[in-house]
Amino acid sequence: MSKTLRLILGDQLNPQHSWFNEISDKVEYVMIEARSETDYVVHHVQKILGIFAAMRRFSNQLRVQGHRVSYIRLGDKSNRGSIKDNLLAMLEEGAYDRFEYQLSDEWRVDEMLQSLCAEIRQESSAYDTEHFYTERSFLAGVFSGKKQTLMESFYRALRKAEGVLMDGESPVTGQWNYDASNRKKLPKEISIPRPFVFHHDVSDILQELESSGVKSIGKVKAKEFIWPLDRKDALALLDHFVNELLPLFGDYQDAMTDRDWSLFHSRLSFALNLKMLSPREIVDRVEEAWRSDPDRVHISQAEGFIRQILGWREYMRGIYWWKMPEYAKLNYFDHQRELPRWYWTGETKMSCLRTAINQSLEHAYAHHIQRLMLTGNFALLAGCDPDEVDHWYLGIYIDAFDWVEITNTRGMSQFADGGIVGTKPYVSSASYIHKMSDHCTGCHYDHKKKTGENACPFNPLYWHFHHRHREKLESNPRIGMMYRTWDKMSPDTKNVYLEQAEKYLSEIDYL
Ligand code: FAD
Repeated sequence: MSKTLRLILGDQLNPQHSWFNEISDKVEYVMIEARSETDYVVHHVQKILGIFAAMRRFSNQLRVQGHRVSYIRLGDKSNRGSIKDNLLAMLEEGAYDRFEYQLSDEWRVDEMLQSLCAEIRQESSAYDTEHFYTERSFLAGVFSGKKQTLMESFYRALRKAEGVLMDGESPVTGQWNYDASNRKKLPKEISIPRPFVFHHDVSDILQELESSGVKSIGKVKAKEFIWPLDRKDALALLDHFVNELLPLFGDYQDAMTDRDWSLFHSRLSFALNLKMLSPREIVDRVEEAWRSDPDRVHISQAEGFIRQILGWREYMRGIYWWKMPEYAKLNYFDHQRELPRWYWTGETKMSCLRTAINQSLEHAYAHHIQRLMLTGNFALLAGCDPDEVDHWYLGIYIDAFDWVEITNTRGMSQFADGGIVGTKPYVSSASYIHKMSDHCTGCHYDHKKKTGENACPFNPLYWHFHHRHREKLESNPRIGMMYRTWDKMSPDTKNVYLEQAEKYLSEIDYL
């Protein structure tokens, strides 16, 4: 009997994929927990646990439905270490005459699968993951022959193509974008719903990780694992988001606080990136919530959320497939500094960074503006090497996968692509952080002070960054104004700023 071996990767846990419409003895699925995947950077322990636990559940669910599944656990004696070596062994030993896989979202794995297919005797084919709205090449088509690669143009093109929040060719409310109403500071009196979390027991997998010697960072309560592990969980998280958080999502999308770690954010990225949910069903659900009760869910909240998924998420994936593999090496500012060591411990006197890093170590999660305007902002101002920054983000966040991590980190956050993703570097001094958060109250540093003892490091570093990269930034129309302010300062004032920044950079591990 002819038999097909089909690979399911750890981020391909989509029970609605058409592969599973038919149950057949002639098809065997394989899922592999591989050291090649746990070890390519040091990951947060919750990220490894979450992916393996979700893979195990998925394989069990497939078996219950009647599918044939081989599952190779990390600790199995026969485990050959990498996905490729495990597959080669199976394909050599087993009676398979076909090998099939779903297209990987990661360049490295895509290359590996192509090289594997060239080596094996069996016929092979690749399938779409049936997850994203767009194909890998869609974005390149949108920007072909254009100078600018703005997310907003891509987003509008996709809204039109998909008819999302549209009335024919026009946005349904006459306005494309409500970004301007998505920047409110959190009022003191607002009550923040308690984060909706799960309580899974994954301690058996933790033991396996420990006995296999897998290195990791971060904390975990392995008997109360908080992340969704299957589609049922993911749908419950989506329900919670739409019912409890969406009505205020847009308003406080950019707000930061010591009081809570996820605010009105959905925390759907892990489930989404593992493909337990599809972007389409989330977007449809949110559009429907607005259409059915626009007083409860204002258009600015719904559009603000849809823009993240239909816009940013699809856009980042398009940029990845357009610009890889060169993208992963870009370093526009030639930044070389090591990341301060407190990125791994949270032990810094800067209250905002302490909050963001400690919650990342605790939950493997920080919301977007913490990633962009705290950890990312500081790393860019300080001139940290984008390779280091990439590795940190790829390791620490539960939702971090190359295609969406490096485009956000190297592109949006570090401007290492010189302006493909962003039109200017996302940097700020302390005034933005003070405006958008309550972190500065009680901080060791003074957000108002630009120099001298206890001056907030973001202030002198902000000017130092612009000063040292003047040649590359001055002609940017969105930054020119800033240089005019700098030029109006006296040479003495400028020197004091620069000296203060140099001092902080020389003691960066102790800030
Ligand atoms: P919400 O705020 O509830 O947003 C809803 C969804 O929109 C998210 O789940 C996500 O799927 C999507 N989304 C929002 N912003 C973006 C964006 N910029 N790019 C792509 N999708 C977006 N996201 C990842 O999924 N994986 C990463 O590794 C990752 N690394 C990042 C690194 C940096 C430096 C920055 C600035 C952002 C990064 N992001 C990444 C984007 C964003 O921060 C996360 O998607 C978001 O914080 C996930 O939390 P959430 O599900 O609560 O998001």
